[in-house]
Amino acid sequence: MATVIVLLSVLGAYNWRGSPLGFLPNAGVIILSGIAVAFIVIVAARSASQPWRVCPECGGRLPVHARMTKCPYCGHSLSEKGESLPPR
Ligand SMILES: [Zn+2]
Repeated sequence: MATVIVLLSVLGAYNWRGSPLGFLPNAGVIILSGIAVAFIVIVAARSASQPWRVCPECGGRLPVHARMTKCPYCGHSLSEKGESLPPR
């Protein structure tokens, strides 16, 4: 997925119709922005695939790695062991 974006940005930076075929003068900027987009996609995909803790009070989704002590949605205090919260 990310490789495709980088590849497309490289292809987009290439001057296909120019008389001497070659990369555009701003090819580096286009490729770099493509890599930046690919990086954002990787980070977004990674965070989306991560498991979520669910606040027992309001059901809000909380990232596991954030180690939150308080729910940002309702302010409910969360125990350190998110998965083994005692049933209410
Ligand atoms: Zn909550």
